[in-house]
Amino acid sequence: MNGARRRGQGFIIHRREVSGVSGFETLDRPRLQVEFEADSELTDALVTRESNRNRLPPLVSDKLKTVVLDLDETLVHSSPSPPPETYDFMIKPNLYGLRMNFYVSKRPGVDEFLEAISKKYEVVVFTAGLEPYASLLLDILDPKGLISHRLYRDSCNRSSRGRFIKDLSMIGRDLERVVIVDDNPKSYSLQPANGIPIKRFEDDMEDRELEKLGVFFQRYCDGFEDMRDAVKQYWGGGGGDDDTMSTQPESSIISSQ
Ligand SMILES: [Mg+2]
Repeated sequence: MNGARRRGQGFIIHRREVSGVSGFETLDRPRLQVEFEADSELTDALVTRESNRNRLPPLVSDKLKTVVLDLDETLVHSSPSPPPETYDFMIKPNLYGLRMNFYVSKRPGVDEFLEAISKKYEVVVFTAGLEPYASLLLDILDPKGLISHRLYRDSCNRSSRGRFIKDLSMIGRDLERVVIVDDNPKSYSLQPANGIPIKRFEDDMEDRELEKLGVFFQRYCDGFEDMRDAVKQYWGGGGGDDDTMSTQPESSIISSQ
């Protein structure tokens, strides 16, 4: 590859001559091909805002702490058709003008977990999923309205690599009093001390991660004014490790996390 040059803004432009016929092209003379490649030195530092919709309404009580929960592979796993062997419910969101089927499996213990923590915390779901998909899913997952607020993809920031980043500093809560639980630690890379990585859930019905988290929120956090100290002591510092890093493709239609 020749002609590589840095353009700034996190991209390198590669220019090269290619020949031959490909796809619908009929030209057989060499032509110039221009490719953009993310500059790995800069990419994750470059973050853009998608919208201003991520500021939550004021807390109903100053005493409340906030638990921010990711959705896909944290609370549920959903897959488009064909249907898996077992699933809990189906939704049919309209995405980009297409009606699609998603078969949703709830993570073991999710109902009990939401019921328990919502008595003590403000519960927010912050997902990189699209609103038409996630809102339908949450309507069924949370019929009692235990989740106080929902933030969707348009509340995420975007890195130049296309990752969706959940910036907790923009939601209007004191960061001492916020914890985020997410199967992808990269999504909270702007505030790693506030994050609890959780094992990615797909179809393991023996999974007990939400049970463990329930113990943390119900019993362990009481002694801490700053939730980041509780995270650090209980989970060893947050920020995640390789075992909890998501291997999901970064540009799935419903979520890149
Ligand atoms: Mg996730």
